[in-house]
Amino acid sequence: MLRSVGLIFLVFLSLGSSAQYSFSDKSLITDIQILSSDQLEGRKAGSEGGKKAREIIVDKLKKIGLKPYPETSYDQPFSITQSFGQINSGQASNILAVIDGRRKETIVLSAHYDHVGVMNKSIYNGADDNASGTAALLAFAEYFSKNKPEHRLVFAFFDAEEMGLKGSAHFVKSIDLKSEKIVLNINMDMISRSEKNELYVCGLYFYPNLRKPLEQVVTPNNFKLLFGHDDPSTGPDDWTRQSDQLNFHINNIPFLYFGVEDHEDYHKPTDVFEKIDQQFYLNSVETILQSIILLDQNLDKAN
Ligand SMILES: [Zn+2]
Repeated sequence: MLRSVGLIFLVFLSLGSSAQYSFSDKSLITDIQILSSDQLEGRKAGSEGGKKAREIIVDKLKKIGLKPYPETSYDQPFSITQSFGQINSGQASNILAVIDGRRKETIVLSAHYDHVGVMNKSIYNGADDNASGTAALLAFAEYFSKNKPEHRLVFAFFDAEEMGLKGSAHFVKSIDLKSEKIVLNINMDMISRSEKNELYVCGLYFYPNLRKPLEQVVTPNNFKLLFGHDDPSTGPDDWTRQSDQLNFHINNIPFLYFGVEDHEDYHKPTDVFEKIDQQFYLNSVETILQSIILLDQNLDKAN
């Protein structure tokens, strides 16, 4: 199932068991737990649970002190009509916030916060998919609110990904990508568990210039950051089209997508908080944060 050719395998220095993370590990775990709790009813786009998820995310952004993007509201509503043979009507909404950098060029950090809701009376909590990416994005917002980035950072919490990448499609249509100077999208979708302790970063097949900064990432002990899942000749093993990064890629904006391989609870009601591997998740979030820091500082040299 894995591509065996072209993967680069990185294991570096140990952070040790008493690891100090660059973010609050306690907040991260609390956030993923709340976002995947039953009261949010699987966070389906357009649902009450989705709205509750939105309120939690916006409250936290306000508390951290992030500005809304592009103007005065964090919400970027759009209507959802029909998808995959189902009729869904109502409003979905992305949540967008920004931290100014030293320069105008912008990196969009993204994760979808919606999931598939309730089916046959079962709540699909979507802890890994994608409360994990959502809570990580909140941790990064907090980190960069205290550590000024080089690039302007837009934090995009996309809605309706599960209905066909609709939130990110709306986002790229709604803004002038050129005048906003968006130079990179870093997307996260399912980053909190892996029996093999493997996190993938996908996108280097198309954007090989981004390899150098990523090769400098120091990963924790027993944790692998692998490059791959982006070769179009590998069919379903190519993840390029499988999450919101696609809408950046088709607009010629370079992307990197961080994610794990599918697991037995993928898109099942059993994708719950208790199944998260907390140690793996903390390592994963730290690795992605270090990747973002290196990319933010070295993107010029990479281009
Ligand atoms: Zn997902």
